[in-house]
Amino acid sequence: MPRRKARSKRAFCILSKIIQVSLRTAKSSSPVSSGSLDEALRGIDALLGAVGLTHGTRRTRPPAQQKTTSPTRNSAAPKKKSVPTPAVPPTPATPTVLRVPAWERYPWLAHGFSTRPNGASKVYAPRAHSGSGQGELNLGFTGSDTQRNVRRNREMFLHALLETKTASPKHTALAQLALLRLVLLQQIHSGIVYRIEDTRIEDTRIEDAPQADVDLQAGDGMISTQPGLLLGILTADCLPVLVVDARQRVVAAFHAGWRGTAARVVERGVGRMRAEFGSRPGDLTAAIGPGIGGCCYAIGDEVRNEFDSQFAYSDAFFREVYDSDPIKEKYPLLFLTARAPGHSNLGPSTHLDLVEANRRQLMDAGVAQAKIHALGLCTACHLTRFFSHRAEQGFTGRMMSVVGIR
Ligand SMILES: [Zn+2]
Repeated sequence: MPRRKARSKRAFCILSKIIQVSLRTAKSSSPVSSGSLDEALRGIDALLGAVGLTHGTRRTRPPAQQKTTSPTRNSAAPKKKSVPTPAVPPTPATPTVLRVPAWERYPWLAHGFSTRPNGASKVYAPRAHSGSGQGELNLGFTGSDTQRNVRRNREMFLHALLETKTASPKHTALAQLALLRLVLLQQIHSGIVYRIEDTRIEDTRIEDAPQADVDLQAGDGMISTQPGLLLGILTADCLPVLVVDARQRVVAAFHAGWRGTAARVVERGVGRMRAEFGSRPGDLTAAIGPGIGGCCYAIGDEVRNEFDSQFAYSDAFFREVYDSDPIKEKYPLLFLTARAPGHSNLGPSTHLDLVEANRRQLMDAGVAQAKIHALGLCTACHLTRFFSHRAEQGFTGRMMSVVGIR
């Protein structure tokens, strides 16, 4: 036995010498041609074959797989195939819900603003931001996302929303999910506000939600005093505005884009809270959720004209933003156009501050300035945290803002 072992060791040494010399010769003869290298390799294969060794997988097996092959080299063992995707997708992490600190002390109140990360949707994930591999929380039946994803996202969001520190053990998020109803509107950028006192309105039972938001009432504001209803507003740049009368237990939710703001949807809604429920100004608190900021919301003349005709104080929420392109500043001649003065696209653009516009409406309706909480988060500036219709050219998901009495 020892003699046989020594002989094969000597044979192996000779073989590796031949291989090394052959490869060196092939490489030095022509550094750019692979032909001679292939010829040398074929020769080596023939040499190995002559002594009973085969090496047929050299050029087909990638190095990574070579490492993972079984050390026993059992040829009868089935080849491992890479599994494309697991049958059950991993459970996404809990979504983050933004809340108003001043409202967290009311155990009867459910409220929150959704954010973009951690959900079942993948369709809107920007390639640059999809490194985390986590899905996103699209809460609107947008058409590009699957209904299954949206329903799952809504369940996850509402579960996270209802799971608060102040909730009693018998009011766990799961127990409440079975009882509460989510009420949505077909949002039409109007000033229409509904008083929702029972569930006759087409509503959405959370655990057996319909395939899409169908047959909803058309409007942009809801007010309710009825426990068991969650009023929801969907947005992706427009402002969600929530108002609470903690003394009378009246809640309201509004959808305020530029058209709804110009139609005074928030001012009208708070006016109705006062007129129909006797809400006192001192008892009202408002929260303005994430939306497109004055930093990013460039608008045209028609928007400016609409606000100027509606509000005496409209100057307060418009500003001119100059294009501060350093190349344009250094080489202005390069950007000369044949257009008449005042018609060039190099001039300032007008930006609208929707938050300021709605803050003014809340104050006009009687809400104290100190009781208006604006999150101050621009959706277009923070695409990893929020969906933005403007910044993503209309191809995006929806966030949901909710207020309700448990
Ligand atoms: Zn911005």
